[in-house]
Amino acid sequence: MVLSYNLYDNTFIAVYVIVMAFIFGAIFASFITCAAWRVVRGEDWIHGHSHCDTCGHELSTMDLFPIISYIALKGKCRYCGAKVPPRDLIFEIALGLLFAGTIAVHGAIDPLVIEILVLEVLFLGLSLAEMDTGKAPSGFLLSILITWILFAGFMADVRHYVLEGVAASLAISVIMYAVAKLMSSARKQKVEIDIRPFAVCMLFTGLDTGVVALIAACLAGIVIMLISRKKTFAVTPLLSIGTVFALIFGESIIQALFINTGILTGFI
Ligand SMILES: [Zn+2]
Repeated sequence: MVLSYNLYDNTFIAVYVIVMAFIFGAIFASFITCAAWRVVRGEDWIHGHSHCDTCGHELSTMDLFPIISYIALKGKCRYCGAKVPPRDLIFEIALGLLFAGTIAVHGAIDPLVIEILVLEVLFLGLSLAEMDTGKAPSGFLLSILITWILFAGFMADVRHYVLEGVAASLAISVIMYAVAKLMSSARKQKVEIDIRPFAVCMLFTGLDTGVVALIAACLAGIVIMLISRKKTFAVTPLLSIGTVFALIFGESIIQALFINTGILTGFI
């Protein structure tokens, strides 16, 4: 049995679900930014307590409401008055909007959309941790791998989900290994590429949408580098953007580009 509810069968329920998605997105962003921050500092990320970075005062539940606490306290610490950077607020609003947008575009509540939402949370944590440390923490990568395994049981076509995912994951691993080898010989020094984030992302996309994910990641990289004027940027955030984009829009893009135009008709 495949569980699925068509969102637009009832307008009231659709609006309610989309608003709730925004709230849950903000709550999960608050949790995952905190977890990523603790992973980066080597703190216990489940049992640790949040505290002000300036005065060290432990934060109460009242200080930790996503978005609302920041606005109510006018972006300052309740205890010492120090300004709190708006970084967390921005991520809470962004993930809230991403959650709401994902459900609105997908138009149904089913295992695939829940899987995308879980991935969005884990990708945010992974990206923040990598931007802070320059490395993708194994804990986040393992959580993403476990998500893929757990959701296999809920997919309509389990065999296709597993085979496509593993094939794409192996293919990208071989390609990135070859790219690293080629770059090493061209530059005459060892170039290392962390293959793990590529391998776990491709498990979710499979082969065809995987290509959409990689192209979207490259385009996102070009846009971000042009805007920020940086010459380098962490790979995982780009890969996360590409993967989420491909999971939401990939099938429709492939459908529109190849199948509707008849380019692939000869092969199918
Ligand atoms: Zn303080």
